[in-house]
Amino acid sequence: MITTPTSERRCDVVIIGAGPAGSIAAIELARAGLDVVVVDRSDFPRFRIGESMLPHTQRLMEELDLMDRVRALPHVVKKGLEVEFGDGRRDAAAISFAEMFGDGVKQTFNIRRSIFDRMLADTAAEAGAEHRFGESVTGFDGLDHGDVRVRLQGGSIHADWLIDASGQACVLGRHLGTRRFLPGFRNVSYFEHFEGVRRNTGDRDGFATLAMCREGWFWMIPLDETTTSIGAVIDDRLAREIPVPANRRLQWCLEHCPAMAERMTEATGPETNQTVGDFSYTCGPHAADGWFMVGDAAAFIDPVWSTGVSLGLDGGVHAARRIIDVARGRRRPTDATAAHHARIARLRKVFLGLIRNFYDHSFRELVVAGRGPLEVHRAVVNMLAGDVFSGVPLRVRWRWDLMMAFREINRFRPLNERIRPHSLLQSAGLRLPEPNAGVCRGVPRRKVGAPAWQSV
Ligand SMILES: Cc1cc2nc3c(=O)[nH]c(=O)nc-3n(C[C@H](O)[C@H](O)[C@H](O)COP(=O)(O)OP(=O)(O)OC[C@H]3O[C@@H](n4cnc5c(N)ncnc54)[C@H](O)[C@@H]3O)c2cc1C
Repeated sequence: MITTPTSERRCDVVIIGAGPAGSIAAIELARAGLDVVVVDRSDFPRFRIGESMLPHTQRLMEELDLMDRVRALPHVVKKGLEVEFGDGRRDAAAISFAEMFGDGVKQTFNIRRSIFDRMLADTAAEAGAEHRFGESVTGFDGLDHGDVRVRLQGGSIHADWLIDASGQACVLGRHLGTRRFLPGFRNVSYFEHFEGVRRNTGDRDGFATLAMCREGWFWMIPLDETTTSIGAVIDDRLAREIPVPANRRLQWCLEHCPAMAERMTEATGPETNQTVGDFSYTCGPHAADGWFMVGDAAAFIDPVWSTGVSLGLDGGVHAARRIIDVARGRRRPTDATAAHHARIARLRKVFLGLIRNFYDHSFRELVVAGRGPLEVHRAVVNMLAGDVFSGVPLRVRWRWDLMMAFREINRFRPLNERIRPHSLLQSAGLRLPEPNAGVCRGVPRRKVGAPAWQSV
C-alpha cells in the first residue's frame, strides 16, 4: 500500500476516508485515469462493525470485477436471513433471497470488515490512488469546484473535487453544521466476535439471524468457518436501566434473551464487549459546489437491514461516476452534484421506510409468519433484501402496498398469532420505565385471532 509523507499536493479528487465508500470511489476514479488522494486517520487494517451485506453489494462487486477478490478472502455466502422473537417459543422465519421476484443477484456475503476494507483500499492503490494513512483532515479552506482546499495535520491538499467518506465522523457535515439526528432512532450497540456459536445449517446455512425483543434486537452473523459476530442494538434510554457497566451488557442481554442464550450455550469469547452509539442522522444536502458526501458521512440509518455498506458502496460509485461525467464533459458540475444529492436522499427515504416497519410490532407479527396471500411475502423479501436501488418493479410494489394494508388491519383484527414481545428487563425482574417503553412500537393489547397466514 502506497503511503507518502504529508506535503502540499494538487490532485483531481481528494477523498476523506478509506472505508468501503471512499475506497470504491477511489477505485472508479483511479481506473478512469483521475489523480486521487485518499486520506485516512487510521492505519489499515482496522476494525469496523458492519459485516453482513445486501445482495446489492455482491452485484456491485461483480460489476466492478472485485468479486474474485472477495472470494479469495475468508467469508460466508449469505443466501438470506432469519427473523425470530427473542422468547424463542416459535421457529425463526426464513427470509430466503431465492424467493425474490426478478432475476437479479440472489446472494451476498458476510465478511470481517478489516479484511474487506483492506482489500478495497489495496485495489484502489493498485489502480493508482495515493493513500495517506495515519493522517487526519482537520479543516477546509475552500469547497468550490476546482478550488477545494483540505487541511491536514501537516500540510494541505488542493483538488478539483472533494468526496467526504469519513463515516460517522462526518467531517464535512460537522464543518457545515448540517448533521441532524433522527428522533426515535437513538440506540446503542454492544457487540463482539465469538467461537462455537450454534449456527444455522441445511438450507439456512450462512443466514444471518435477527432476534427481536421489546428493548431492541440481536444479530448473529457467521463471518467465516468458525467465528460469529454477535451484537445487541438497544434503545438508548432503556440501555441505561441494564444493571451492569456498558462493556458487560452484551453478555447480560444474551443471558436474558432465551432465543440467543440457547445459541450461545457452547460459545466462547471475550467477557467484555465493544460499544458504539448508533443514532440515525442525515447531513443534507449531500452534494454541492465542489463536494460530495458518501456512506455514513452523508447519512446513517439504523443497521437492522444491513444497509450501511451497500449504501456506502452505491454512493461511492455514484459520486465517482458523476465526477468522471464532468471530467469527460458529459455533465455540468451543478447537474452532477444535484443528481448525487437526489440519489442519496431517495435511497435514504426508501430504506428509512423499511426500517420503520421493522420497529412496528404489527409488521413483525406478519413477517415471522413467513408466508402471506398473493405472494406478498416474496415482495417483502425483495424489499428486505434491499432490492430497491434501481427502482421497485410493479409486481413488487403493489404487493408491498398490500403488505402495508395487512399491517394496518393486523393492528385491529389479528391476521396472525398475537405475540407478546419478550422484555429483557422484565425477564430479569426489572421494571420497564413506562408500560409502553421499548423500540418495538404499536404492541397491541388485544389477544388471539385465527391465523390467516401460515408459518414456514
Ligand atoms: C452496530 C452497527 C451494526 C452495523 N451492521 C451493519 C451490517 O451488518 N451491514 C452493513 O452493511 N452495515 C452495517 N453497519 C453500518 C456500517 O458499519 C457503515 O454503514 C459502514 O461502515 C460505512 O462505511 P463508510 O465507508 O461510509 O465509513 P467507514 O467504514 O466508517 O470509514 C470511514 C473512514 O474515515 C476515516 N476518517 C474519519 N475521520 C477522518 C478524518 N478527520 N481524517 C481522515 N480520515 C478520517 C476513518 O478512519 C475510517 O476509516 C452497522 C453499523 C452499526 C453502528
